[in-house]
Amino acid sequence: MTRPVIEFRGVGLTYPGPPPVTALHPCELSIAQGEYVTVVGPSGSGKSTFLNIAGLLDVPTAGTYLLDGIDTGALSDADRAGLRGRRIGFVFQSFHLLPHRSAMENVLLAMVYNGVARSDRRPRAREALLRVGLGHRLDALPTRLSGGERQRVAIARALVSRPSLLLCDEPTGNLDTATASSVLELLDQLHRDGMTILVITHDPEVAARGQRTIAIRDGVLTEQGVFTERADTPA
Ligand code: ADP
Repeated sequence: MTRPVIEFRGVGLTYPGPPPVTALHPCELSIAQGEYVTVVGPSGSGKSTFLNIAGLLDVPTAGTYLLDGIDTGALSDADRAGLRGRRIGFVFQSFHLLPHRSAMENVLLAMVYNGVARSDRRPRAREALLRVGLGHRLDALPTRLSGGERQRVAIARALVSRPSLLLCDEPTGNLDTATASSVLELLDQLHRDGMTILVITHDPEVAARGQRTIAIRDGVLTEQGVFTERADTPA
């Protein structure tokens, strides 16, 4: 068994309120290196809460979250941000590119704060853009790129730090069907190359691309029909 990239031990999150809202009930989860996992659930089910915890954007109120074996609960805010920058590549529905910077510059900027030597940045950005099939559009501004190309730039930006985990939030939500399918093929390719991928989506077709699907409903994580542990008793 390869080592887990993500390990949740009783991880949960309750917003204090009043009234308190348990957005994620305490759960167990292990995602091994190289796995492609999708997370589905209706609106309001807790997907963003899960994403924010997994992406080190939010700290759980219960349990222990190990990322690459590192206990993230013990970290300062600055160390958590540093770990996030180095180990997690984010891909969002709306791309989040800087509109007045070229594809190359958008990817370069991802390396400024995470310790990549200045002389290595340009070759690495070029390599990442080649990997997503954009070797011919290095100097293009996002406004001159199609939606699919923009998402490829965003994926290159996510990959350039050589993260342990690619964390995608509705990566095809803003794309037409044909473009979406080419972005999904790119994710398949990255998975074949060994990347660990976690995709959060409400789209069953996107969810079906993963090797393993986790459902969230009313803050409860379920996997392969088996309920994970939860602290309270279901009504
Ligand atoms: P999803 O991403 O699946 O739409 P969320 O994770 O955003 O779901 O929300 C899960 C639940 O937590 C919802 O009931 C939502 O209203 C609640 N929630 C989200 N953020 C907060 C907050 N800051 N304070 C209180 N409740 C919240």
